[in-house]
Amino acid sequence: MVIAEPTTIREALSPLQGWWRRGSHSDIAEEGWERFAGSGAMAAVVPEAYGGTGAGLEALALALEELGAVGLGNMMPILTAIDALAVARHAGEPLKRKILPGVAAGRLRLCLALTEAEAGFNTFNIRTLARRHGDAFRITGSKIYISGADIADWLLVLARTSTPEECAARGQSKTAGLAFFMVPGGARGMTMQQVPTTAEGTLRQFEVEFQDVEVPAENLVGLEDQGLKPLLDVLNPERILISATVVGTATHCLGVASEHARNRRVFGDTPIGAYQSVQHPLAEVRIRQEALRLVTREAARGFDAGLSARDLAFLGNSAKFLAAELGNKAVDAAIETLGGKGFDQRQGVIHQFEFMRLLKTAPVSSSLILNQVAEHTLGLPRTYCARGPPRVALGGLHRRLLVGDQTLDLLSDLVHLEVVARGLPEHGAAARPDHQAVVLEPQHAGHPDRIGRLRVQVLHADLSREVLLQRRHLGLVLLTLRAAG
Ligand SMILES: Cc1cc2nc3c(=O)[nH]c(=O)nc-3n(C[C@H](O)[C@H](O)[C@H](O)COP(=O)(O)OP(=O)(O)OC[C@H]3O[C@@H](n4cnc5c(N)ncnc54)[C@H](O)[C@@H]3O)c2cc1C
Repeated sequence: MVIAEPTTIREALSPLQGWWRRGSHSDIAEEGWERFAGSGAMAAVVPEAYGGTGAGLEALALALEELGAVGLGNMMPILTAIDALAVARHAGEPLKRKILPGVAAGRLRLCLALTEAEAGFNTFNIRTLARRHGDAFRITGSKIYISGADIADWLLVLARTSTPEECAARGQSKTAGLAFFMVPGGARGMTMQQVPTTAEGTLRQFEVEFQDVEVPAENLVGLEDQGLKPLLDVLNPERILISATVVGTATHCLGVASEHARNRRVFGDTPIGAYQSVQHPLAEVRIRQEALRLVTREAARGFDAGLSARDLAFLGNSAKFLAAELGNKAVDAAIETLGGKGFDQRQGVIHQFEFMRLLKTAPVSSSLILNQVAEHTLGLPRTYCARGPPRVALGGLHRRLLVGDQTLDLLSDLVHLEVVARGLPEHGAAARPDHQAVVLEPQHAGHPDRIGRLRVQVLHADLSREVLLQRRHLGLVLLTLRAAG
C-alpha cells in the first residue's frame, strides 16, 4: 500500500495535469477517482488494523488539496472518507471488516443519505424510520439529493429509531432517537430516481426510497437512538475535507489565470496581469487561500487529536464558510482574467462555477454556519426556533417565564439549584396550582462563555402525555432559579 504523502499523490495525479486541453470534465472524472483512490490516499482514514495507514484526516486533506489543484475537486472521495471515519469510530467489528479494507484499497465508494425533502436543513425532523425486527432493522422512508447513490457500494443512511413523539414521551429532545445504518447499494426495497441537478459535475444526485429495506443489526454505525454522536463525527470531517479541496481549487484557478494574465496582451505590449483590476482579485484569492489552508489544517489536526465534535465545530464551520467564499472568488477572478475564454470548457475553469456556488448552500449553508457561530461561539440567541432559549445569569435569585421545554444557558456557576414553579394565567385561563417545572439534563457546557446548561421542561401534572407534548396546552410558569453558595 502506497503511503498517502502529498508528493506521492501529486505524482499519481500528474498525468491529469492540463486534462481540460484534451477532454471534458465528464470524460476525465472517473479517471480522476481511479488515480486518486488507486494512489492509496483513502487509506489515510482507515486504521492500520483494517488495511489502512491510519495517517488521519490531515493526510487525506492534503491529498484532496492535490486533487483540487488539478481542477478535479469531487465529492466522492470526501463522502467515502467521512463514512469510513464514522464506521472506524462507531461501528462494530463485523461491519468494520466489511467496509474498511475496501475503502483503504480504493475499491469501495460510499455515499451519505441524510437529507429529506420535508426536513431540509432541519436534520432532526427526518422521518425515515428504522424498526427493529429481531436481529435486523427495517428501514422505510425517502431521501433526496443523494450524491453518487447510483455508483456507491454502500450508503450511510440516517434514520430514526424513535420518533420525535416517542423521544418526547421519554422526556428526551428530538436530537435523540437517531441512528446510522450502512445499507448496501441496490439493497432489496431500495429504489432511486435521478434529480436533474448539475452542481457536482459528473456526480449525480438521486431521490432514494426505502421500503422495508432490511439490514442486520450489525450494520448500525453507533448505537440505536444515539446517532447524534456519529452524525457530528460525519459533519465536521465533511466540512474540513471540502475546505481542503477548495484550497486546491484556488491553486488551480490561480495557476490558469496567472499564466493567462502574464501572457495576454490586449492594449499595446502590456500584459493584462499588470492591470490592478486583474491582479488584485487574484492576489486577494491567494491571501484568502493561505488563511483557509491554515484553518483547515488546524481543524484536521483537531479531529485527529480527538477534539470533541462540539469543540471542533467552530473550526470546521469556519473553514467551510471561508471555503465557500474563497471558491466563488477564485472561480470568479479566474473567469474575469480569462475574459470570454473563461466560459470555454477547454480552459478548465467554468466547470467549477456551479460546484463552488453549491458550497454556499450545501452540505451546510453559509447562513446556517453563521447561525451556529453566533449561538455557540458568541452566545447570541438561537435563531432556529421562534422562541429561543434564554440565558440565565444566576446571582442570588433569578426569575423567568417559561413555557414547554426549553434549554437555559447559565452564565454563572451553579452550586445549588432551586426550582420553584407556579402556574400563571395564559390566554385568560385560570392559574393552575399543579404546574411543575422539571429540570432535565443539567450539564456543564464546556464553553468559556457559559458555565452550564439546563434543559427544563414545564409539566402540568394532570395532563396526559400526549397533551403534554402540545405546548399550547401548557401554562406559562414562573421559574425561580437560585444559585446557592
Ligand atoms: C447538488 C447537491 C448535492 C447534495 N448531496 C447530498 C448528499 O450527498 N447527501 C445528503 O444527505 N444531502 C445532499 N444534499 C442536500 C444538501 O446538503 C442540503 O442539506 C439540502 O439541500 C438542504 O435542504 P433544502 O434544500 O430543503 O433547504 P432548506 O432547508 O429548505 O433551506 C432553504 C434555504 O433557507 C435557509 N435557511 C433555512 N433555515 C434557516 C435558518 N434557521 N437560518 C438561516 N437560513 C435558513 C437555508 O440556508 C437555505 O438557503 C445535496 C444537495 C445538492 C443541491
